[in-house]
Amino acid sequence: MLMNAGPWLSVPPPGYGGIENVIATLVPELRRLGVRVVLASVGSSTLPVDEQISVFADGQFAALQRPYNQVCGIAQAHLAGVVRELHSRDDVDLVHDHVEAVGLATLAAMGPAGPPTLHTLHWDLAKHPALYGSLDGGDRVRVNGVSASQLARAPLALREHSVGHVHLSTPLAVDADRRPRPDKGEHLLILGRINPGKGQDVGARLAHRVGIPLVLAGPVGPYHRPADLAAAGDEARQNPDVRFFLDEVAPHVDGDLVRWVGTVAGQERDDLLASARASLFPLRWEEPGGTAVVESLALGTPVVATARGCLPELIEHGRTGLLTTDEEELGDLVLAAELLDPDECRRVAAQRFTPAVMAQRYVELYERVRQSASAP
Ligand code: UDP
Repeated sequence: MLMNAGPWLSVPPPGYGGIENVIATLVPELRRLGVRVVLASVGSSTLPVDEQISVFADGQFAALQRPYNQVCGIAQAHLAGVVRELHSRDDVDLVHDHVEAVGLATLAAMGPAGPPTLHTLHWDLAKHPALYGSLDGGDRVRVNGVSASQLARAPLALREHSVGHVHLSTPLAVDADRRPRPDKGEHLLILGRINPGKGQDVGARLAHRVGIPLVLAGPVGPYHRPADLAAAGDEARQNPDVRFFLDEVAPHVDGDLVRWVGTVAGQERDDLLASARASLFPLRWEEPGGTAVVESLALGTPVVATARGCLPELIEHGRTGLLTTDEEELGDLVLAAELLDPDECRRVAAQRFTPAVMAQRYVELYERVRQSASAP
């Protein structure tokens, strides 16, 4: 099969990178199950695969800040390379595509010349119905969501082509017994892109209200370190996430009770997450998949969140986290979260969110896609 990761980041990603993390988690499991994987990515990807193809040498993430037509141009250049490859060989029996809208449209446009295709939806699409027009790839092209709630909100054209949803997973989800219980610190953590939908401003105000330290980890637009953002000057304000950070979040970042540490990766990220008293998701958007949510559980950190998007599917209220529909209630829930058992969070993650569980589910969906493509 051909796994189309797209041109934005290497696989695995250097730090931030939800989609690329999914692929880096899924591919080794598929290969363990005997699936031969050709990865379409950028040249700098290091994920072990059976074969790799690329158009761009390095990830084009910074270009995502450019006007939308230029962003599409980069995606299309990558897809043109993929289509050339598919036309030139007959050993690819299925494509698993992850390139938003452009990937699906391009592969659908191949018509019967293209292999059966499963396109994974990674975003909240309710606000962007125009991104996906009607699908004319017939039964050859199918989509899956990363949660039931994401699919329920997707445009009809997509839901009609859906074969179901597959929750995200994390390699951090292993038996609780196989990891020492981490020492808990005092801090709350919000791990993710700094963005109005993720609600870091709500979290920062909450931290001051309840007097609990809060660490914000994640990039602000293209800026991964506070020093890079400071050096960028006024030009950085062209990015909406930078404006959100500077106007709504930064006034509450005092470097003491509330800190922004930039993007964290590897062991530093895991330690920060495992030692947090709770992970906070004061969401204002319908979180489609929530990788950081399952990572938090896997590391034994209960989740306190607004009950939006996939959160009610991933979190068992009162067992692995606390959910509310009332933003004002989050402060009380943060205080109550210490009653939740970290080992219970890890046990649930080790049952529900392992890479093996995700890969098994994808193998089932691949079969469904192949069957519907070959149906008369
Ligand atoms: N992430 C990271 N370092 C950061 C911020 C985020 O490694 O500083 C990772 C996080 O652990 C998760 C991914 O980036 O694996 C974000 O995926 P998620 O589905 O939570 O959010 P998205 O940004 O895709 O909406």
